[in-house]
Amino acid sequence: MKAEVTGARIIDGKAYAAGLRERVGRAVLRLKDEHGLTPGLAVVLVGEDPASQVYVRNKARQTVEAGMGSWEHRLPESTPEVQLLDLIDQLNQDPAVHGILVQLPLPRQIDTAKVLATIDPAKDVDGFHVVNAGRLAVGQPGLVPCTPLGCLILARDTLDDLTGLEAVVIGRSNIVGKPVAQLLLQENCTVTIAHSRTRDLPAVCRRADLLIAAVGRPRMVKGDWIKPGACVIDVGINRIDAEDGRTRLVGDVDFDDAVKVAGAITPVPGGVGPMTIACLLRNTVTAACAQTGVPEPEM
Ligand code: NAP
Repeated sequence: MKAEVTGARIIDGKAYAAGLRERVGRAVLRLKDEHGLTPGLAVVLVGEDPASQVYVRNKARQTVEAGMGSWEHRLPESTPEVQLLDLIDQLNQDPAVHGILVQLPLPRQIDTAKVLATIDPAKDVDGFHVVNAGRLAVGQPGLVPCTPLGCLILARDTLDDLTGLEAVVIGRSNIVGKPVAQLLLQENCTVTIAHSRTRDLPAVCRRADLLIAAVGRPRMVKGDWIKPGACVIDVGINRIDAEDGRTRLVGDVDFDDAVKVAGAITPVPGGVGPMTIACLLRNTVTAACAQTGVPEPEM
């Protein structure tokens, strides 16, 4: 029998992220009061990419609002790789800096893998270092990539216990698809990772109680790809031309179509997006506590 579905609950990632930032702010206050510890985040931006400039500005503002130390390092587009690696070495040595984030993408002359490998894994608040990816894969504590962590938090908040659920993740990138699949496996989901070579993707998606789309293709996932009542987490951020001659952001899921079928769904914007920076702040507190041997407050 088909489930009776009357329209999805809209998962308010913006509100959840605001609450998480507040809890991080309170944790920071406690760390300062009780342990004299001020978590600090250094963000490095190379070049003038407009989207990256906006992200970096937002990260710095929200870090300061949470009461943390914040440093921004802006380097010109032509920066040689060795100069960036030297800066990372300095930040690795600096005891006031607990988290280091190098904004991607990097200019062509710089080897991204080399840069990520140079960041001290204890300060790798983006969770992209192979040591942290390995820890996640084997179930050891480490720093978890921010967007996947945001997806997991929203899914858990919506569905409570994820044990036994069929989860389908569309996308297998190192920054979203793979880590989110690892996190769902840890939550005892039965996880399928789909990608561009997957056969009959709509049928695979229709199996999912929890569907995570991290593809980068505007409105690819249609309503009839979704199991009635399923929880849909849309990671995609795609800029498309709007009718009024301007542009607007849409996800990887056809929201207007999917909202009629899903049980719960994240909007774009206002879903996963705001969770990313909130999780970055949380990771910085986690990293600061781990580096100083201070117990991590509830967040
Ligand atoms: P990515 O590295 O380009 O990976 C995209 C994945 O989608 C790949 O695994 C690719 O498969 C798969 N794919 C592409 N076309 C497909 C198709 N037709 N059918 C099935 N799978 C397909 O992208 P990403 O970095 O993971 O990002 C994905 C999306 O999330 C983007 O829209 C990005 O802007 C967004 N994003 C948002 C946040 C945030 O909310 N803060 C953070 C990061 C990313 P193959 O591996 O086979 O090529």
